[in-house]
Amino acid sequence: MLGKYPAEPFRIKTIEFVKMNTREDRQRIMKEAGYNTFLLNSEDIYIDLLTDSGTNAMSDRQWAGMMMGDEAYAGSRNWFHLESTIKELFGFKYVVPTHQGRGAENLLSKIAIKPGQLVPGNMYFTTTRYHQEANGGIFKDIVIDEAHDSVIDLPFKGNVDLKKLQKLIDENGADKIAYVCVAITVNLAGGQPVSMQNLRETAELCRKHGIKIFMDATRCVENAYFIKEREAGYENKSIKEIVLEEFSYADGCTMSGKKDCITNIGGFLCLNDEDLFTQAKELVVVFEGMPSYGGMTGRDMEAMAIGLKESLQFEYIEHRIKQVRYLGDRLIEGGVPIVMPVGGHGVFLDANRFCSHLPQEQFPAQTLAAQLYIESSVRSMERGIISAGRDIVTGKDHKPKLETVRLTIPRRVYTYAHMDVVANACVDLFKNREKIRGLKWVYEPKQLRFFTGRFEYV
Ligand SMILES: *Cc1c(COP(=O)(O)O)cnc(C)c1O
Repeated sequence: MLGKYPAEPFRIKTIEFVKMNTREDRQRIMKEAGYNTFLLNSEDIYIDLLTDSGTNAMSDRQWAGMMMGDEAYAGSRNWFHLESTIKELFGFKYVVPTHQGRGAENLLSKIAIKPGQLVPGNMYFTTTRYHQEANGGIFKDIVIDEAHDSVIDLPFKGNVDLKKLQKLIDENGADKIAYVCVAITVNLAGGQPVSMQNLRETAELCRKHGIKIFMDATRCVENAYFIKEREAGYENKSIKEIVLEEFSYADGCTMSGKKDCITNIGGFLCLNDEDLFTQAKELVVVFEGMPSYGGMTGRDMEAMAIGLKESLQFEYIEHRIKQVRYLGDRLIEGGVPIVMPVGGHGVFLDANRFCSHLPQEQFPAQTLAAQLYIESSVRSMERGIISAGRDIVTGKDHKPKLETVRLTIPRRVYTYAHMDVVANACVDLFKNREKIRGLKWVYEPKQLRFFTGRFEYV
């Protein structure tokens, strides 16, 4: 082991300048952006922790691979490299490339959900649930109750609650269930992992009833690290072996290449069923592109194939997880309330406790994210009532128990010193938290409203 906070297992070859603006600038800029951090310009940000999606720094090998892009419309050699890499590392029979993860979610939802069917999942994800519902599916949350609590510290807080799943099957019958969607790790619970034992038991239950399992593989490497670190029997297994075992319990997966493939764009869908694969290939040409590029350029596919292999290196993933943990530890030391335990891709501020003077109707997490930017030029994002959206049937707001601000760490981009800047800003803001004001809607989009919604102070 490399110690509590291992130094970067790489050296820096190219740098990108960032600049600091003044507090007055930021006050004006945030107001103009409708108090939505998604509407800020990148140039106005010093440390950007909006997301770890597509914000990764690629290696010299990936950049070299990009020079070897084969931009043929069909049959690009980079596709064959990517396809064989995915098959080898994930163990699925068929791969369909897509422009990013939601492209794969769209295809899967279209081919595997009949209107009125249930789609149980270990907590929702925004784009995933959107596509399930848009195709007539009804999302059912089957994550363990503890995942909705910000304080309980569990090693595998993303686990499926098998009793909840059994109850859904008993009450509705297996035919009413389109498939079970298992996310590894669970983004909205704070990047919480799922144990191998839980994956195995979920698969056993599903197979007994003839129900398919599709995994949201977006952070499967981070999940594998937690299994190695925390689950008995996996200490001496390689990350590669663990990832392969994770997927042995699934019938397929959707993947956002923008996360654990360490690239800036891309995604794919994996399947074992030939019939579903045929249907997915028929649809991919309509929505994404030929089954040999699916919205990606040849060079993107090459970078993804190389990035996926790099992500399985122990030194890489150990540094990644521990850098995130370092930020969490600094915040805990400073008394800032965060979701426990710290997950794989970011630290989630608990806005309910941070802004305990604000009711959920005044969007504590949304306003906290805006205020953090004004104070420090650090960009974060809301994961709470705004992200949860409205119920598709009743039109009422979903009111999630977790009201959080996500500080998401891009892969291989920032140093521990940057984490210190972020931690200090959060600690200072926490000391002056009563001054944070509530927000109200100015413009509420119908779908995925967190992306483009606008607000003003109450
Ligand atoms: C990012 C993400 C997606 C969607 O992927 P995109 O590439 O952004 O379309 C799906 N599921 C999870 C858990 C994600 O984090």
